Amino acid sequence: MTFDPATEIQNFLAFGEFGDVNPSICDSSTYTFMSVAKMEEVFEHEIEGCFLYSRHWNPTNRALATVLARMEAGESAQVMASGMAAISSSLLQLCSSGDEIVSGRTVYGGTYALLANLLPRFGITTRFVDLGDEQVVRAAMGPRTRVLYCESMSNPLLEVADIPMLSRVALEHGARLIVDNTFSPLLISPLRLGADVVVHSMTKFINGTSDCVAGCVVSSNQFIAGLNDINSGPSMLLGPVLDSIRAAGILKNIHGLHVRMTRHSANADYLARRFQEAGLTVHYPGVESHPQHELMSRLMNPGFGFGGILAVDVGNKVTADRLMLRMQEEKVGYLAVSLGYFKTLFSAPSRSTSSEIPPEERQRMGMGDGLIRFSVGLDNDMERTWSIVNGCLQELGIGGGHLGHTHEGGSPVRGEL
Ligand SMILES: *Cc1c(COP(=O)(O)O)cnc(C)c1O
Repeated sequence: MTFDPATEIQNFLAFGEFGDVNPSICDSSTYTFMSVAKMEEVFEHEIEGCFLYSRHWNPTNRALATVLARMEAGESAQVMASGMAAISSSLLQLCSSGDEIVSGRTVYGGTYALLANLLPRFGITTRFVDLGDEQVVRAAMGPRTRVLYCESMSNPLLEVADIPMLSRVALEHGARLIVDNTFSPLLISPLRLGADVVVHSMTKFINGTSDCVAGCVVSSNQFIAGLNDINSGPSMLLGPVLDSIRAAGILKNIHGLHVRMTRHSANADYLARRFQEAGLTVHYPGVESHPQHELMSRLMNPGFGFGGILAVDVGNKVTADRLMLRMQEEKVGYLAVSLGYFKTLFSAPSRSTSSEIPPEERQRMGMGDGLIRFSVGLDNDMERTWSIVNGCLQELGIGGGHLGHTHEGGSPVRGEL
């Protein structure tokens, strides 16, 4: 039977203290012991069902971590206070001074800044490469490379990572493959495709209500135990613990994740095709002209679509800014960073979430100042939404041959959906 991450989530049952259908929230930082000997024992090694202190483990956080481990087909998981905490803790668990990381060049701006600016202070250096080119990736791997780092779907150009290829290269060089799966929960299962560690910013799709910042790491029992080791674990010692009340909220929201992802995908697919018809360059893995459309079709779990994010190039900064403001005035959504919210969010990556990446580097990737990233919302009537967006495009003279740059998106896709 094929793996269905939505069924994995559905099959998680945990009762509350009074038979509550939601697990009780453990609103406590510390836990009593009935004997001093037992407390000593827990300091030496973890004991199932025994909790010590909530920076280490909390029952509510553990319930959420258990669901995430199943969703990602991992042995174990750890929840954290942000996606960046999940990423930095995982990297510090694997790398020491003198070690190297090979990373995709289009990673999330915060991750780029961590790798380019902060980790070198601790002697950990990163080579940024085009992960789409196997020879380039191989050439970048060295004897001190401990981590190959990628995003399942890159931000904001939505390049899809060839996880099976990257996992082979990592394995051959004795490195671990870390995949940031924030853009594609349920759609892609990196651990099943050969990744060693999966990280998420749960701030985005997994929680889906833009009301908290949270992250998680899913991997082997050994890796998660290492992160959380009382004497040496980065998660334990840097202390990015998730608050249990937030964990309880995310645990409720995650049960609707499959419904949301399916709808986000359908709405994004519709919008991407309409933008293409309007003559704009669209980056969306669901459209046939996307360079990794075939790859994603092979890698993805069926039934959830190609994701809720797309990027559209409207040519230049002034046009992009005008369009975003008009769309906000017309209630298409919000001019805001982040993604995975029930309303549509849009921003210009070159001047927000990817501004940490130097201009030359952004130019090389094809991330111009006219690029707008959309996190498409759960709109009930996308035809209506498109008619409003199209009205804004026409008003500003965007598309339909008005653009001052060549269109590489292939022939416009007509019709279906
Ligand atoms: C938002 C984001 C992060 C960082 O997550 P936070 O929860 O904001 O710390 C990391 N990776 C990707 C792909 C993201 O979109």
